[in-house]
Amino acid sequence: MKSVWMAAPAKLEIRDIPIPEIREQDVLIKVEYCGICGSDLHIYHNAHSFRIPPVIVGHEIAGTVVKLGAKVTNLKLGDRVAVLPMDTCGKCEWCKQDLPAHCPERYMPGQGSWIGACVEYLNVKADLCYILPDDVSTKLGALCEPLAVAVHALRKIPEDKRDSVLMMGAGAIGHLAVIAARGMGFKNIIVSDIVDRNLEAALENGADFAVNVLHENLNDAIEKKYGQKVFSIVITAGSKDVLCESIAAIRRTGCIVAITMTPGDLPFPMVPFIWTESTLYASQNYNDADFKACIELLRKERSRFEKAITHVVPFEDAQQIFDTLVNKSEFTIKAMFKA
Ligand SMILES: [Zn+2]
Ligand SMILES: [Zn+2]
Repeated sequence: MKSVWMAAPAKLEIRDIPIPEIREQDVLIKVEYCGICGSDLHIYHNAHSFRIPPVIVGHEIAGTVVKLGAKVTNLKLGDRVAVLPMDTCGKCEWCKQDLPAHCPERYMPGQGSWIGACVEYLNVKADLCYILPDDVSTKLGALCEPLAVAVHALRKIPEDKRDSVLMMGAGAIGHLAVIAARGMGFKNIIVSDIVDRNLEAALENGADFAVNVLHENLNDAIEKKYGQKVFSIVITAGSKDVLCESIAAIRRTGCIVAITMTPGDLPFPMVPFIWTESTLYASQNYNDADFKACIELLRKERSRFEKAITHVVPFEDAQQIFDTLVNKSEFTIKAMFKA
């Protein structure tokens, strides 16, 4: 079968490899769509913590079940599924609390013996598959994983802080977070970014207000528009000053959730943080509850999510699409492969 490799940094290659074997608790998925993640671009730069070239890229997949392990009872042949690409022990204190990202035995496609997901057929533990309803296409199903990153963050925000939310960063995750927030009933959804095209796309797809922080002071712009600061913030991207900016923008007792992986130590304004009595959460990956919420959101906000998929290409275009994404030579929200 075909597989898409980062053969060396910045060097994509299609290789022929055997179709994987499955264990009794696994299914074999015929991959139909595989999204390209920001973390796949880290592999391109050889800056990923555990996916080191040569490695098969990809982990954001949806497809059809074509083979069942002997012990699988929750799926049948022909089911269309999205995949939660994180295998775990299922027994530790973290797994029992639906916090799989903290399982000491967790592993993901492209790690250890599990191949990356940008392949024609992928072996997946049946418990990690989520059946797509008839009205959610398999293509939309491949958005489930990046959407779950956004939803995991948004679900940390208490109900009484959902009156206003600011997404700092309107790239793929910020954009999906805007749509998800709309579907989850958040009011006054604001985005900030330094790229006008990203902001325009977010406004077209569910955001109420956008601020280009290159041209405007974030705080001033929001206070001018709404007469007050925001109750919640999701940090999906940002420079070194992103914590300072978020604490300056948060309303008293508000809630800030950080997803961004801005490297290095960031300045943290302790006194303003204490004054606001705000809460800062970290958000990593996702869990079963997030995936279930995502399936519902995909259905509810179908047409908006469709618009978030800007590029669909065959495996053969791997080099070209990675170069485009890395060089930002075209406007992109989410790019995916069609296998
Ligand atoms: Zn991803
Ligand atoms: Zn575990």
